[in-house]
Amino acid sequence: MSLALYASHEHQSRGRRYPEPSPGLRGEYQRDRDRIVHSTSFRRLEYKTQVFVNHSGDLYRTRLTHSLEVAQIGRTIARILSLHEDLVETIALAHDLGHAPFGHAGQDALDVCLKDHGGFEHNLQALRVVDELEERYASFRGLNLTFESREGILKHCSLAHAAALGAVGRRFLEGGQPSLEAQVANLADEIAYHCHDADDGLRSGLITLQQLREVMLFREPYEEVVRLYANLPERRVIHEVVRRMVNRQIVDLTEASAARLQRVNPLGSEEVRQQAEPLIGFSPSMVKQNHELKQFLRVALYGHYQIRRTAAKVGRLIGALFDAFLADPYLLPPQALLDLQEREDSAGVTGRAQAVGDYIAGMTDRYAILEYKRVLDPSI
Ligand code: MG
Repeated sequence: MSLALYASHEHQSRGRRYPEPSPGLRGEYQRDRDRIVHSTSFRRLEYKTQVFVNHSGDLYRTRLTHSLEVAQIGRTIARILSLHEDLVETIALAHDLGHAPFGHAGQDALDVCLKDHGGFEHNLQALRVVDELEERYASFRGLNLTFESREGILKHCSLAHAAALGAVGRRFLEGGQPSLEAQVANLADEIAYHCHDADDGLRSGLITLQQLREVMLFREPYEEVVRLYANLPERRVIHEVVRRMVNRQIVDLTEASAARLQRVNPLGSEEVRQQAEPLIGFSPSMVKQNHELKQFLRVALYGHYQIRRTAAKVGRLIGALFDAFLADPYLLPPQALLDLQEREDSAGVTGRAQAVGDYIAGMTDRYAILEYKRVLDPSI
């Protein structure tokens, strides 16, 4: 692997919070990636909602398959730009570890529950998962990842929280950018979910081909496919279009980013961090097309009344579970109760609320539904 000057080189890493011997046969970011894949939170992604609630169909993306798509798109971009593929992959696989059950509806509901105790932010929660909540090692809490992986995982953060995070939160207070690998993972996420949400939306029947043909990023490849292949069954048309959408965005992103990198010519990853704007990005025309697709999905898919109904139901479910556990922590299973007592001892009622929040945030969709029945449904 030949890395560009501005890539994240392992020998320049800011290291781990708890020093460890070098990983030997593996690289440092490879070790981070392996730690993510072996973590409990990673396995939970299989049963967490992306857009469609986990039990609504076997073929929709889950957080796990979404994360795998992000990793694969991210690696492709990293390889073209001579960036560190393992670091991009680590960030991609870890980027959604902090998601509550039921996707954004779950996160919004938890945010409301925790509004007097710091709120709930899934990026911050992902960092908490890898820094604190995973329990796998004898000598430290969390997974003890490198600074560069942690920096990439913390994509957004409110100023109030950033102040408490030390080096990894500094860019939110003082400006600056994360590594190019973090920037790639971030946009690989956007490419993946725009394209697969369009695909899943069509599969569900909540949006139609006719509607999507109004959106330029879909229309152009669609017209190309129907011109090239007459009488192709619709399922294959959709796949041919979606893969072209992914490809177009990757080509655009790598070309636009390579041009920007050549112009700015940063001499190392620290110079990348000092930039006022990200160096990885789409061309202005692709930014516009992406925006159009995003707006369309927001209204037609995420705003569809059937998706809203589900969101409202799961929001009430999360709220009810939170209230029940907060009012009576003895309803929690033993380990979660011990965690809560420890947090309450050190941080009072906020510690108590956050421990309940962590317990709920860690749930898969189906576990949350089961817990709801076990805690609140007297008939079982
Ligand atoms: Mg994502």
